[in-house]
Amino acid sequence: MDDHLKTAAPASDSYYLAHAKVYPREIGGRFSRLRILAVWALLGLYYLLPWLNLHGRQAVLFNLRDRQFFIFDLVLWPQDFIFLTWLLILAALSLFFFTALAGRLWCAYACPQTVWTEAYLWMERITEGDRSARMKLDAAPWSADKLWRKGSKQVLWVVFSLWTGITFVGFFAPIRGLVNDAWHFGLSGWETFWTLFYGFATYGNAGLLREQVCKYMCPYARFQSAMFDKDTLIITYDAERGEPRGSRRKGAPKAQTGLGDCIDCTWCVQVCPVGIDIRKGLQYECIACAACIDACDQVMDRVGYARGLVRYTTQHALDHKQTHVVRPRVLIYGAILGALAVGFLVALWLRKPVALDVIRDRNALYRQLDDGRIENVYTLKIMNKSEHKRHYTVSVKGPGELRLNPEPARFEVAAGEVFPAVLRVRRSAFEPVGSETIEFTLQDDEDPAMKVTHNARFLAPSQ
Ligand code: SF4
Ligand code: SF4
Repeated sequence: MDDHLKTAAPASDSYYLAHAKVYPREIGGRFSRLRILAVWALLGLYYLLPWLNLHGRQAVLFNLRDRQFFIFDLVLWPQDFIFLTWLLILAALSLFFFTALAGRLWCAYACPQTVWTEAYLWMERITEGDRSARMKLDAAPWSADKLWRKGSKQVLWVVFSLWTGITFVGFFAPIRGLVNDAWHFGLSGWETFWTLFYGFATYGNAGLLREQVCKYMCPYARFQSAMFDKDTLIITYDAERGEPRGSRRKGAPKAQTGLGDCIDCTWCVQVCPVGIDIRKGLQYECIACAACIDACDQVMDRVGYARGLVRYTTQHALDHKQTHVVRPRVLIYGAILGALAVGFLVALWLRKPVALDVIRDRNALYRQLDDGRIENVYTLKIMNKSEHKRHYTVSVKGPGELRLNPEPARFEVAAGEVFPAVLRVRRSAFEPVGSETIEFTLQDDEDPAMKVTHNARFLAPSQ
């Protein structure tokens, strides 16, 4: 049996299969280039984003201590958590939509596990060599060369993990201060904990566990098959064309060999990062990375056969039936996703950097002053959602002549503060009106176009 297909035999009294280390072979090709591009783009975003500054502060910062979330120009406060919830729902729906449409695209190109595993594999390759060199090194007894290669890989992995950990914390606390503190061993307890925790998790998942995370830990791998149907794009081996497989003399005419197109070179198995054989059919372990497509295409080019023995296709296409890209579940996911995305953008567009809530004093219906005027008391909650201190003026209108006390009603509200302002509204002359609606208007003094209104009830004796 070839060494790449070996698995350790389970002990007779154990239900557990011992883990056989996977040594994925490096392969070039169009899908490999796409995956590397995704790795650069996503890891580039992750490591560089916290270093971007905007308006004199970190452009993307989820400041948990001050409960302010900065996403470029957008500043979100705890009152805006609906937007974050909305974003999470959009992300989940996108996953459903793209899975129904094109299978495990997420796993192949965007999942952090895939992306970081590529990076850790790259460090392994530059220190320990290609697939066969790594296998030989692991099998060899300890020597100075082995110690040097394994040691330098560990140094690279640990440094990269720590950088990953501190970058993660840098999304929640300003990264420049964080790196400066780390340099002077001045990180707080929580900062140290999360840096080490996230760094260690990345080291463990992408460096050591790798495909085992996808196979045994990832919940998505478990339920994604529920979103598959026979029109979902999958990566599969064309058994009809490939079988019976077998090696053959170079240039031997196919008709004489009696064999299918698969020359049984096992390249598709050797490049597989999860260590499966795509020729056995669709398996839940397959993360659809398309490395086996690149590998098989290269083999087909060499032997002069048409590409696509392993390819993206659908079960219906394999069964010689028509594939329907647009089908009810894709339409339903797409429609919900589109509606929620448009709603999200519109809500963001309409979002105002100030909010007003008005609560009527419930202790007294109304009060009649000595001069005959009727007074109602309100508490206004003014929320400054901008990132700077603002000044606001409150006015009121409604039936009759209404006056505010204090007047003018001007308030200074710090960034992110919910300011409670007690206001008295007085009707200048007694009128038996009962209950009426009045309207409070809050205007930003520095930006008069920025106004919000809120209605409230004004109570007076009915006769
Ligand atoms: S079977 Fe092919 S597509 Fe699936 S994980 Fe292995 S190499 Fe990637
Ligand atoms: S790479 Fe292609 S030809 Fe080689 S074993 Fe796999 S399917 Fe067969």
